[in-house]
Amino acid sequence: MALDLSSLTLVTVLILAVSTFVLAAHWVANFSFAGLGRIAVGMGMATAGVVIFMMAAGPSKPLGILLGDLLILMGHLWFWLGIADYWKERSRRLTYLAGFIMVFAIIILVNNVMQGGTPENRAALYSFFVAVFSTGAALSVVQALGGRVGLYKGIIKRKTIGTSTIAGVFFAHAAFNVYRGIVLQSMTAPGPGGDQSALASITQIEGTLFALALTVSMIVSTAERVQADLRIQAMMDPLTHALNRRAFMTVIKTVLARSRRLSEPVSLIMMDIDKFKRINLKHGHLVGDAILRQFADGVMEGRRAQDVFCRFGGEEFVLLLPGTSEEGAELVAHRVRDAVTGYPFQYGKKDISLTVSFGVTTARGDDLLPDSILDAAYKALREAQKEGRNQIEVSGSGSVKPG
Ligand code: GH3
Ligand code: MG
Ligand code: MG
Repeated sequence: MALDLSSLTLVTVLILAVSTFVLAAHWVANFSFAGLGRIAVGMGMATAGVVIFMMAAGPSKPLGILLGDLLILMGHLWFWLGIADYWKERSRRLTYLAGFIMVFAIIILVNNVMQGGTPENRAALYSFFVAVFSTGAALSVVQALGGRVGLYKGIIKRKTIGTSTIAGVFFAHAAFNVYRGIVLQSMTAPGPGGDQSALASITQIEGTLFALALTVSMIVSTAERVQADLRIQAMMDPLTHALNRRAFMTVIKTVLARSRRLSEPVSLIMMDIDKFKRINLKHGHLVGDAILRQFADGVMEGRRAQDVFCRFGGEEFVLLLPGTSEEGAELVAHRVRDAVTGYPFQYGKKDISLTVSFGVTTARGDDLLPDSILDAAYKALREAQKEGRNQIEVSGSGSVKPG
């Protein structure tokens, strides 16, 4: 079965051009995603490279081949940097390393052409650089996968099918190019054309598959990412990154149902920052915002994995503690109060002191209902405020303890 190399190359060009178009359109549609544009540009460079390669003929053939090679290499570099951007994994060191490899590649390729190196030598070297860039891309994706699997404290897990596919596509591409490099290197002398054209055909097919797989998995990955981001945004309070009230009302139902089944107590602490209006008046709203953020960060850092923290209203927060009894909840409230009163909040050079009032409640069994727990905690909080603020008031949540 003979493969017609020139028509294969034409197919590659068509697929590359379509992929470039699709990626560019995708980039425009999802404009906020850094890296997508760079990946589209990379695909465009690779397309141009293959076209120049295909058209190279006559006395300027070596120059055309060199230019084509360089463009394809640049395309790989751009993919890599784009993917690193996409996953916010781009470090300055990574960029310098990529730049260094690129300059090195250009020098060696140009030198090869000037010295009249064999096409096999040139292609072997080129395969090596492609393998290096592809491995870089795959590694940056794998690294990103590790860091972002458990997003938003286990409440939402970002799906990673698209990303895993991208890593797989690049690893396969790198592996193929290592193989191609080894085969080409073994052909020291301009050998019989048969072997070489078979390898060239397989390279065209592999290149086409690579472009298609990369484009499709990029689109799947972006869609997954948009979805996950929207879900997180819908659940999160934008200022403090605590759960918002609406999401909390859904989460509390699940938590209470589970605790009822496990016959475990659930505690809830409602917190209200004292005289917060004054802080806004005295220092301005921006300072008020910063304090709300610092307060929420502090509570979120200190809680256990199963505890749910919510911004219930302006300066009111709720901490839901599954499997926690009266004593445990009181201890948590004391810990938060001591942390708040122990250290002044910081804004620039300003030290701002703060106090918080707490309403604590614990429920079990049939009393595990969202409304009654929230109501009990709210009443306890009002008591704490009446008693002069900076207090912890405990309520029984109407749960009558036997004895
Ligand atoms: P109390 O001790 O009785 O709780 O008094 P307070 O001033 O803390 O409570 P009140 O409920 O009267 O007012 C809450 C204030 O919280 C009103 C508003 O200025 C402020 N606030 C609510 N949300 C935000 C916000 O997102 N940013 C800032 N900076 N302030 C907010
Ligand atoms: Mg209030
Ligand atoms: Mg208040």
